[in-house]
Amino acid sequence: MAEQESPEFGKADFVLLDEVTMEHFMENLRLRFSRGRIYTYIGEVVVAVNPYRALPLYGPGVVERYRGRELYERPPHLYAVADAAYKAMKRRAKDTCIVISGESGAGKTEASKYIMQYIAAITNPTQRAEVERVKNVLLKSNCVLEAFGNAKTNRNDNSSRFGKYMDINFDFKGDPTGGHIHNYLLEKSRIIQQQPGERNFHSFYQLLWGAPDALLASLQLQRDPGAYCYTREGTAGGDDAARHKEVEEAMAVIGFTPEEISSVHKILAAILHLGNVAFVAEGETAAVADEGLLATLAELTGTAPARLRQALLARTVAAGGGELIEKGHSAKEAAYARDACAKAIYERLFGWIVGRVNAGIAARDYDARRHGKSTVIGVLDIYGFEIFDTNSFEQFCINYCNEKLQQLFIELILRQEQAEYQSEGITWQTIEYFNNHPIVELVEQPHRGILALLDEACLVAGTVTDALFLDSMDSHLSRHPHYTSRKLCPTDKTMEFGRDFRIKHYAGDVTYSVEGFLDKNKDTLFQDFKRLLYNSTDPVLRAMWPDGEQSITEVTKRPLTAATLFKNSMVALVDNLASKEPYYVRCIKPNDAKSPELFDEERCRHQVSYLGLLENVRVRRAGFAYRQPYDRFLQRYKMTCEYTWPNHLMATDRDATEALLEQHGFQKDVAYGRTKVFIRTPRTLFSLEQARAQL
Ligand code: ATP
Ligand code: MG
Repeated sequence: MAEQESPEFGKADFVLLDEVTMEHFMENLRLRFSRGRIYTYIGEVVVAVNPYRALPLYGPGVVERYRGRELYERPPHLYAVADAAYKAMKRRAKDTCIVISGESGAGKTEASKYIMQYIAAITNPTQRAEVERVKNVLLKSNCVLEAFGNAKTNRNDNSSRFGKYMDINFDFKGDPTGGHIHNYLLEKSRIIQQQPGERNFHSFYQLLWGAPDALLASLQLQRDPGAYCYTREGTAGGDDAARHKEVEEAMAVIGFTPEEISSVHKILAAILHLGNVAFVAEGETAAVADEGLLATLAELTGTAPARLRQALLARTVAAGGGELIEKGHSAKEAAYARDACAKAIYERLFGWIVGRVNAGIAARDYDARRHGKSTVIGVLDIYGFEIFDTNSFEQFCINYCNEKLQQLFIELILRQEQAEYQSEGITWQTIEYFNNHPIVELVEQPHRGILALLDEACLVAGTVTDALFLDSMDSHLSRHPHYTSRKLCPTDKTMEFGRDFRIKHYAGDVTYSVEGFLDKNKDTLFQDFKRLLYNSTDPVLRAMWPDGEQSITEVTKRPLTAATLFKNSMVALVDNLASKEPYYVRCIKPNDAKSPELFDEERCRHQVSYLGLLENVRVRRAGFAYRQPYDRFLQRYKMTCEYTWPNHLMATDRDATEALLEQHGFQKDVAYGRTKVFIRTPRTLFSLEQARAQL
């Protein structure tokens, strides 16, 4: 009942649908999309359809309309949810989080930015300088992280290639005093290769198109992404040049020093040059094809040319008795090690940038200490579920992450409803949901899940190949209803024998190519590179390699695999989210053509279905569509009843609420909880709103 919207815009809340069917749901979604009403509620959940055009829905004037209002008082909006999370945090000292989900290109990152802008706009009325600074850094961090962590994919021109969870800390006045960003698994394989039509991370093109001539010359770069192996695939410029300037300015605001920014330039340039280093075979071992390039690289990375050559061409291995020997690479091995090094440098650069942003917004906890309280709003914007033509280890991790979040959604929405009815002493009936628990288990179950089998395969030295890993999955998982491969289903020609396996995800079937799984999971980088870069004269580069200090004989412990690290970070993330009061934004991508006009019925229906939105509406309606604390209810409707207006004649707010609802004849449609009134059908609230409006 969100708002006083006219009926031509459809229902502002899906719980108001005449019937809860897919047809009615889709009709409402389509109608609202076509009228530019991209937000619709399911209770407190916002369903958002990406409009693919600029709508006049944001900005200071709109912020004012939502500030401090209740959800249903205004048209559905991200601002309203941001306000609800903020109010819960401020009034009830609750840690809250806003979880934004949806597939790649559905609008999650844009939504997260609007939410942050809203929070920034409504806080710090007294303009305290330190709070202003923190807000500024928080806002500016988006542009920097997008430059280094986003890329053009075939699904989205500005696709997040890392997961991001940002905590914003608030003091007792409700003003932001700091924050912290957690980043999750950057898709670093993109550094060395992109699918046709895609690009490397924006940062490279921004540097190449946006850097002044003198800077480019000092980095020995040409203004042509086509000149570098790593950026050859997608070269087009677009707004890269303008962005370059914006990003540099943002970095300065965040607190990056000019020297640090200069180091970042050098590191980006070094990666581009590194990609062009070719190797030729000289007998058994390799040699660098172009010595000139080596000198450039040594200069940019602050390393000694001889050592750099050494690290590229050979690795040190520990022989018996503490002896170290040099083992020369073949040309193929050298190319592989070079790529591993390029990926690792970029990944650490990204980690370092996130660390610098965090340093800029580290919460000054003097306030918490003084007043014993600091509350948090978390905003989660993580890569959406994705299916490409070829899906690899990265898509596997990303889709597993989405399974985890979907599971959390199911649990929380159900659990919360149940818990609330219970604590208010109201009876209700459970609604069935599609539970994706078996899929999560398929991936993460100890000993038998895909991650365990992958780690096991990686532990076996030498001879285990991706194909053998696939064999192992086939034998362990053949009975799992969500797993299949060509071997298990020989008639299915859409999978290649010995290469592909398929998971029936909650959001659709995805065929993964097993190629590279082992390598990406082991994520080996020879210690020689780490030592080399640890000894760099560039302080930024050096700081990124604290583990380079160890010598090869000291490196005995096997590091955790990439998949295990990712799983651990997901488990921690889910625990963290579950400990907070959640608010949900469910984003929907209307079409695959990035068109503002096209509402692709089938694509949308599919998303509505896998996001569990219909079940969500059913749960919401099965019990009570609306609930409000007695005092807030009276505050809004007291003027419609003679027992409560102009004077409150009853003993308690609950009594007054009962009297009011009885006078209107709604007693059959409501239940009285301990602190809240529960209203079953939306019509009742509609009528109350009307009665209020007619006064
Ligand atoms: P990924 O998972 O790939 O990171 P995403 O869900 O974060 O995808 P966004 O990058 O937020 O998707 O959105 C994709 C594009 O859609 C944006 O670059 C923008 O062009 C458009 N878009 C999204 N939301 C809006 C909006 N509210 N108004 C106008 N355009 C939007
Ligand atoms: Mg994104």
